Amino acid sequence: MTATVAIVGRPNVGKSTLFNRLVGKKLALVDDTPGVTRDRREGDAHLGDLSFTIVDTAGLEEADAESLSGRMRAQTEEAIRSATVVLFVIDARTGLIPMDRHFAEMLRRIDVPSILIANKAEGRLGEAGAWEAYGLGFGDPIALSAEHGEGMADLYAALMPYV
Ligand code: GDP
Ligand code: MG
Repeated sequence: MTATVAIVGRPNVGKSTLFNRLVGKKLALVDDTPGVTRDRREGDAHLGDLSFTIVDTAGLEEADAESLSGRMRAQTEEAIRSATVVLFVIDARTGLIPMDRHFAEMLRRIDVPSILIANKAEGRLGEAGAWEAYGLGFGDPIALSAEHGEGMADLYAALMPYV
């Protein structure tokens, strides 16, 4: 059976950019406006010799975790529950915000294997976020640049045990 990998995280961390890179087509909408991915999207992903189903999630519509709409929350939870492994994406440039911890709690509660991804890690700006991210309790983050395709070998190594 093909493994299912769900990309989870707050808006604007680069989930859809990562989805597009793994699928190799522009199936997911990438936008500077947080939370533009309203619907769950699935694609056939390839990374080296790994093949898996990848699911892009909407994240949160609002900038406040408390106002997360029920439909969006249900959709994200469903994606997490049906995933073999989750890619939990944070933004290495902005560092952690409370909404990241909200997702961390959700993942801990559902108890699904999760790989922490510190995206936008290209260049020096990305370095600061990694320390803070370690404190989330998901291990050492994988530094990635979904936009520039950096860190994909580390992502491959992290996914290999599950896919
Ligand atoms: P989503 O809301 O999590 O799906 O995020 P998107 O994929 O829509 O990306 C949000 C913004 O971050 C867009 O402007 C992307 O171009 C930008 N972005 C995504 N990945 C990277 C990256 O690796 N580095 C940088 N600098 N920007 C990125
Ligand atoms: Mg998106």
